Amino acid sequence: MTQQKYPPRHMGTMMGPVDPSAFENALMQFEAAAKTMKLTDDQVAMIKEPRRTTEVKLPVRMDDGRIEVFQGFRVQHNIARGPAKGGIRFHPDVSIDEVKALAFWMTFKCAVVDIPMGGGKGGVVVDPSNLSLGELERVARRYMAEMIDLFGPDRDIPAPDVNTGPMIMAWMMDTYSMHHRDNVPAVITGKPLELGGSRGRASATAQGMVFCVREAAQKLKIDLKKATVAVQGFGNAGSFAAKLLREDGCKIVAISDIGGAFHNRQQGINPDEAIDFLREHKNLKGFERSAEVSRFDDPMVLLEEPVDILIPAALENQIVKKNAPRVKPKIIAECANGPCTFDADAILERNGVFIIPDILCNAGGVTVSYFEWVQNRMGYYWESERVLSELERYMVKAFNDVYETSKKYKVNMRIAAFIIAIERVTRVSELRGLYA
Ligand code: GLU
Repeated sequence: MTQQKYPPRHMGTMMGPVDPSAFENALMQFEAAAKTMKLTDDQVAMIKEPRRTTEVKLPVRMDDGRIEVFQGFRVQHNIARGPAKGGIRFHPDVSIDEVKALAFWMTFKCAVVDIPMGGGKGGVVVDPSNLSLGELERVARRYMAEMIDLFGPDRDIPAPDVNTGPMIMAWMMDTYSMHHRDNVPAVITGKPLELGGSRGRASATAQGMVFCVREAAQKLKIDLKKATVAVQGFGNAGSFAAKLLREDGCKIVAISDIGGAFHNRQQGINPDEAIDFLREHKNLKGFERSAEVSRFDDPMVLLEEPVDILIPAALENQIVKKNAPRVKPKIIAECANGPCTFDADAILERNGVFIIPDILCNAGGVTVSYFEWVQNRMGYYWESERVLSELERYMVKAFNDVYETSKKYKVNMRIAAFIIAIERVTRVSELRGLYA
């Protein structure tokens, strides 16, 4: 069994010394929405900062006999609407600031699509491409063991994120279940199908994006059959994004991952060829020798490709003040979390770019995670058609709620998404009141 279908990707970052951090960006987005809504200080205080931040050291026996100590984090941002929910990221650049931002976005993401979950996120500072399978398993199990009291089907439910997939979820579910002396599949989502995973979970993030893009294309009168697409990041979300949009008739003109960025503006790129290439290679390095594509000298230039739809599907802080003036697609569909900074948003908006914000655009992943949790608790598993049609219902409703709110308040889609989400979280906090 392989750890994940696609290799890890470590995208570079555009962040310069003057760019705000991910969490600072998240707070700027929040404050812009809070101002429009005229939130009271009490309301802001209840939902702005994370409720619990945990940092642990994970000693792990390496294959050569040494012990290496990794750093792990879990942040529970808000649990008013339900248990904390959010993935665990394995990446050498993971920091507490990043995990706080990601947990924050999860709270509002779950609220935008209106699933009964709060926001959490975890991370381990590690480059998994340097680990053997056994080392990876020991890191994953130790992470769960160290944090075990934080987790539970009604407490905090982790899931995959960058560089983690079904295999790691299986090890973590097993570790939790062994400690509890019970079979507890609902403690984690994104598991392999055989272990209580949901049909449609692997493609869910991209599928949710496609439902949003279809709605946006209708509003903006873009014919998807004639649309061109560039995808930054060819991991789980990015590769499915390219595949699914091609099935909708779009031409994929550029793709990238840690191994480089590639384009074919005339014929387009067949994502299946890239996926096949990745079965034998760690990343897309050398893809130009096996397919009809040319290599960009600077992979970041992919973001400036004059396409109809740009899909950032890598990491946060990719479109920043510096490059934003040159990024001019009709639509940016954020499969990644936090790819555009707050400053970049203003520039993109001035240039007429329609952004489908991360907390809406990539919410399909956590929505199907919620379906997985529901199925685990029912002990009854749905067919793919049911997953797909329920996902469509959630995404189309969320997209249109956000679109109408953006018109009502005369704000962009990101601020509109925050307004809806903040309203929902605030309402529940007030209904619950304060304990003691
Ligand atoms: N890591 C994914 C996200 O950023 C999925 C979270 C989940 O399924 O809980 O939304």
